Amino acid sequence: MTEQSTTKQELFTNLPAVDQILQQPAIQNLCTLHPDKYVSNCIRKAIDEVRQEIIAGSITKTEYIPTIDDIICRIEDFVQQGLGHKLIRAVNGAGVILHTGLGRAPLAPSAQASLANAVSRYCILATERETGKRGDRNRHTSEMLRELTGAEDSLIVNNNSAAVMLTLNTFGNGCEAIISRGELVEIGGAFRIPDVMARSGNIMIEVGTTNKTHLRDYKGAITENTTILLKVHTSNYRIEGFHQEVSISELSALAKENNLILLHDIGSGAMVDLRRWGLEYEPTVPEAIADGADVVTFSGDKLLGGPQCGVIVGRKEYIDRMKRNPLMRAFRCDKLTISALDGTLKLFLDPDKLPETHPIYSMMTVPLDIVNRRAHRIARRIRDVAGEFLTIKVEDSVTEMGSGALPARPIPSRVVSIIAKNLTAERLSLSLRFSNPPLFTRIEQERVIIDARTIADEEVKLFTKIFSRCIELKDTNKWSNQPLSTGLDKTKRGDDLPAIG
Ligand SMILES: *Cc1c(COP(=O)(O)O)cnc(C)c1O
Repeated sequence: MTEQSTTKQELFTNLPAVDQILQQPAIQNLCTLHPDKYVSNCIRKAIDEVRQEIIAGSITKTEYIPTIDDIICRIEDFVQQGLGHKLIRAVNGAGVILHTGLGRAPLAPSAQASLANAVSRYCILATERETGKRGDRNRHTSEMLRELTGAEDSLIVNNNSAAVMLTLNTFGNGCEAIISRGELVEIGGAFRIPDVMARSGNIMIEVGTTNKTHLRDYKGAITENTTILLKVHTSNYRIEGFHQEVSISELSALAKENNLILLHDIGSGAMVDLRRWGLEYEPTVPEAIADGADVVTFSGDKLLGGPQCGVIVGRKEYIDRMKRNPLMRAFRCDKLTISALDGTLKLFLDPDKLPETHPIYSMMTVPLDIVNRRAHRIARRIRDVAGEFLTIKVEDSVTEMGSGALPARPIPSRVVSIIAKNLTAERLSLSLRFSNPPLFTRIEQERVIIDARTIADEEVKLFTKIFSRCIELKDTNKWSNQPLSTGLDKTKRGDDLPAIG
């Protein structure tokens, strides 16, 4: 009995001191991100956790005491969990490029720089330098959008849904808007063209059939109460086979003849022709403008891979009318969005460089052999730290564009597939979501799949850390017996840590 407690006493003396841990680079880094006191608190909790394990008798020898690196992992977990459900960085191994759940587009470095520059202090968001008076916040991006799209003017709102709503509401209020039955799309749950039409105060006049609509259908539906022809890009599905739609140039001629406004919601089309990279054709904004659309709306994250926003481009007189719509106040963007959009748009001035400058284009165009090598590097790191618990393979698969965006056809990819010896795929993927940083995967045929195309080269090294944690979980019984909903000791750890921010 006395002998036992002496041993424990010895073990305690082998625990690292708070000051010693504070010297570690990883912890110093944490101290730059969070208040020192908060980090120290987490260090104490991590050491105390090990102490409790000694007291409970689950650590009986010096060599079983977690290494400094293990303890640092625990500290990082405490820091993260103490922050609750905050926006933390995640690794996207799910193979969906514009993953709405993971924040759609990772911003390009130039967008990040533009954003940091604008928000670190004051910026000239809505002030004119010439007069010192109120200016138009849209002017920061208008020149570039004119250059890129050929449209006279532009306007930025919070998302493309707002763009469509604002456009329809400005021109159609109480009047008739004509749309083909083949284009009455739903974009994820709440956004359905017929509902948006109704909410914007338009009377929707459907023409044609699901698969075929002719110019004469539109022509026959025009009355003196008609103000709008609306064309919607079916960005999240394709009609193939016996199919016909009316082109923008034909609709433009019809609109001109009848003094109507031609609106085109291109949603997630493209800014530049994607065929130059061997990807599937998507209609582009400059084409729509050149073909005679009066106003074109699109999504800043889906179409440009920028911040969430909606972009409206078109004839100046129409843009001016939209700016005067009282809804504008509710839809307008702040400096975060406008600066990030500015930094994203710039990249499209040099489209050939997009695969190097823009993360989304880089993911879409990176050659398969490079994806393959990345997958093998990921697999090697996983094998090094958790190989004995897992069956790991590198296989062919595909990456989805996501968010109903860009090429509907999936892009060939290489993935790491994992079967855990003691865990179900569900269980392993849960564990990985609670890792630090969280890793998101997909499950196919009871295997956890990690797509190397949506992972950045600089993220590959993180796999050592992510999977080291899984060994820990399997060594102890804490995890396999726990109900799924509690998630990896989440309630035990960090409950009483101070919330920050
Ligand atoms: C995505 C999409 C929308 C909605 O855009 P958000 O930016 O997600 O609000 C509207 N119309 C079309 C055609 C779309 O593809």
